[in-house]
Amino acid sequence: MEFDTLCIHGNDTRYDSSGAISVPIFQSATFAHPGVGLSTGYDYSRLQNPTREHLEKTVARLENGIDAMAFSTGMAAISALMEIFHPGDHIIASDDLYGGSHRLFSHISGKNGLSFDYVDISDTAKVASLIRAETKAVFVETPTNPMMNVTDIAAVSELCRKNSLLLIVDNTFLTPYFQNPLDLGADVVVHSGTKYLGGHNDTLAGFLVVSDAALSERLRFIYKTTGACLSPFDSWLMIRGIKTLAVRMERQQENAARIARWLCAHKKIRKVYYVGLPSHPQYEISKKQTTGFGAMISFETDSEKTALELLERVKLIRYAESLGGVESLITYPMLQTHADIPKEEREAKGINERLLRLSVGLESTADLIADLDQALETD
Ligand SMILES: *Cc1c(COP(=O)(O)O)cnc(C)c1O
Repeated sequence: MEFDTLCIHGNDTRYDSSGAISVPIFQSATFAHPGVGLSTGYDYSRLQNPTREHLEKTVARLENGIDAMAFSTGMAAISALMEIFHPGDHIIASDDLYGGSHRLFSHISGKNGLSFDYVDISDTAKVASLIRAETKAVFVETPTNPMMNVTDIAAVSELCRKNSLLLIVDNTFLTPYFQNPLDLGADVVVHSGTKYLGGHNDTLAGFLVVSDAALSERLRFIYKTTGACLSPFDSWLMIRGIKTLAVRMERQQENAARIARWLCAHKKIRKVYYVGLPSHPQYEISKKQTTGFGAMISFETDSEKTALELLERVKLIRYAESLGGVESLITYPMLQTHADIPKEEREAKGINERLLRLSVGLESTADLIADLDQALETD
């Protein structure tokens, strides 16, 4: 089945004899046993729920995995994943990582005995030099947030395979519509379903997707034991969001490409970070490993004043955290996602007081450009 069809029909929508087209919301905490020692396949909603199961099977198929687990948030998914490691284990992670993941690793996983090295994962030689006996995994975000650095997943996967390391890829930015990390050699795919999968800025969710049965079994044990599962109603909202994933991704990308080009030509914009621009340093890697470039753009204005004014003046585009939804949102990474990172370290990465990050939504491109244009005007 083609991707677009899978998004809509998922695993199988023929649920019962009623003929319901939309998957029912099984708002039940528990399920009756048909007899002593017997089960319908559903016992208790922390373990299995029919609505969530439909969602999980759909996401597993979209990512070409064998199992997907739906969590209450992306961070819940990543926290559960960290439970497969043991005190003393070492993990190599992208240095330009989602702020919440960085906080989890530094303050919670660290306390639990895990240690981390943060590097530019696109530099495979550097990654190789950090591998030691305790190293168990490489955690990659590609493209990264907010600098849009791209990692060659297949190249890192080869290094991981040689050293028996687990390769984890956070695929939130591109979604399985544009990138399938499991096909490129990743062992675990992470998603913040809150972003493009849900797509409407109305639901929090997270996913872990795997292609190995033993790994699925270990993670399912953690899943049912730690309990951060997605509720039946939120599972239904995710199912509904995913139905339009393919068309949203196409159109958001189209909007983003046009806006990126418009920004490049604006006299008050110094730099534009968009993976779809041929000038992007890893443009060729993107072309090789993805079927598209997504709709996330970061850009640097000519001054702090311009950046602040833009944030104050945008009308249609809202100044808010999060990304991937139908509504365009703009953020100020220095003050939000990267506020905890020391100034020198942050600036070395290019995250300065002039940098803004735009999640391009589904509005008309003309209206979005008009909004940016009025927000960038000199008084
Ligand atoms: C938002 C985000 C997360 C965390 O997901 P939540 O659903 O907000 O918990 C993880 N990784 C990336 C890349 C994200 O953008």
